[in-house]
Amino acid sequence: MNTYDVAVIGSGPGGYVAAIRCAQLGLKTAIIEKYSTMGGTCLNVGCIPSKALLDSSHHYEDAIHHFEEHGIEISGDVKVNLKKMIERKASVVEQTTKGIEFLMSKNKIDTYEGVGSFKSKTEINITSAEGKSETIEAKHTIIATGSKPASLPFIEIDKERIITSTEALKLKEVPKHLLVIGGGVIGLELGQVYQRLGAEVTVIEYMDRILPTMDGAQSKELTKVFKKKKMNLAVSHKVTSVENTGKEVIIKAEDKKGKEVEFKGDYCLVAVGRKPYTEGLNADAAGVKLNDRGQVEVNEHLQTNVENIYAIGDVVKGAMLAHKASEEGVLVAETIAGQKPHINYNLIPGVVYTWPEVASVGKTEEQLKEAKVEYKSGQFPMRALGRSRASGDIDGFVKILADKNTDEVLGIHMVGARVADLIAEAVVAMEYRASAEDISRMSHAHPTYAEAVKEAALAATDNIPIHI
Ligand code: FAD
Ligand code: NAD
Repeated sequence: MNTYDVAVIGSGPGGYVAAIRCAQLGLKTAIIEKYSTMGGTCLNVGCIPSKALLDSSHHYEDAIHHFEEHGIEISGDVKVNLKKMIERKASVVEQTTKGIEFLMSKNKIDTYEGVGSFKSKTEINITSAEGKSETIEAKHTIIATGSKPASLPFIEIDKERIITSTEALKLKEVPKHLLVIGGGVIGLELGQVYQRLGAEVTVIEYMDRILPTMDGAQSKELTKVFKKKKMNLAVSHKVTSVENTGKEVIIKAEDKKGKEVEFKGDYCLVAVGRKPYTEGLNADAAGVKLNDRGQVEVNEHLQTNVENIYAIGDVVKGAMLAHKASEEGVLVAETIAGQKPHINYNLIPGVVYTWPEVASVGKTEEQLKEAKVEYKSGQFPMRALGRSRASGDIDGFVKILADKNTDEVLGIHMVGARVADLIAEAVVAMEYRASAEDISRMSHAHPTYAEAVKEAALAATDNIPIHI
């Protein structure tokens, strides 16, 4: 039987990063992945393919709506070749997942293909798709089995017309009318992909605003932009039934007055969150406890109730984000190696890759109000920047929330072009506990979108931005 210092179950951004860090720290490491490709949800059916389609569809939208204003004329029709677009996405995924295979072999990590299932605290059975079985032994195990799409009890996901994000990433036709249940990250990102490609899109959201967990100002701005783009946003609607009649999907929902409303479309994307995945893991055999939400229960060191078994990423509590999973992978590897690492969960940024992009770090205004923290707010609109006018991306803002007494930055929230990248400045500033005045006194290159961060900091400091 092969024996290891560490066995990692699951090769998503949590698992593969944990494995690399373990190997870097001199631990003999194995990684077990159920599927034939490495990379988990993120690389195969999540972050990477969705961003590939967002980018492709963005090019198309620019070509048909924005090239002309830049003085670019296209003679003849601009057409979408969905098959080619999906093939390109698949090739981006393939290159990326192959990259993980390369990293595994470079770091001398043994890879096993098959379902990893505990036999005991230190033994894991691996069963391949062909039914071949072998057992390995590990001093420590890291559970990184991720998540799967969640649904509603009365919905039958038929994968044809009533679909999850996984199917939405490989549709064979552009829907005529895509109904999306859930105005969260997946619903808006994939909703925007298909709207750009020509579908009518209706998003049905239970809460009273899209992106309900982000800062209210971000929801408001994105709502304004999406309505301008003619996306239908039915907020405060509780879906009560979803039916595939063969040719169309009929959704019934209750609006906030309790009135029944019917939505009809040809596809329905269910995007109401994701649930932890532990099927086949046989956690019981190792004595590992799950909580009532199906997550693997862990302490602050991400250690389960069984001393030598840890769990990370989507299968444990916290934000379901790739970079959160990776940070946890590093933390556990370093803990096993005897170090004392730390994660600042308050500074895990959240990004929505629509256009305009939406990005946040730290506390929202709603959270500060609820915690009764005295704060001040400075906001600067993207439209006042020379860079925004040059590119034509004038929607959005940067908003900085700072402690009213100490001026320490407590939260930074953005909507706009490339804010997915801009949020890194906010994370660095907050990690070093910058005040709004600190940021306002740093030079920001001109012309850049980043100037909005400086201006919002000026607004939060003395309420006197320069360019407005
Ligand atoms: P996963 O990536 O889910 O990986 C778990 C792996 O474990 C899988 O490969 C699975 O096959 C394997 N596995 C499970 N059980 C077993 C077993 N018993 N034996 C062997 N293998 C097993 N996050 C972002 O930060 N940015 C984004 O832009 C983003 N976009 C997304 C877009 C979509 C459409 C979706 C669905 C998700 C997106 N996410 C994004 C979320 C991100 O994908 C997850 O947070 C991330 O993948 C979680 O990583 P993980 O390692 O915990 O689990
Ligand atoms: P989500 O939690 O972002 O959004 C789900 C939405 O569905 C919420 O707004 C919720 O109020 C709504 N909802 C729940 N029940 C409903 C009902 N019965 N009727 C109508 N609306 C209902 O989840 P998601 O968009 O499915 O994404 C799943 C996970 O994947 C998220 O945790 C997210 O972090 C991650 N993800 C991240 C990215 C990114 O980082 N850019 C992209 C995609 C997915």
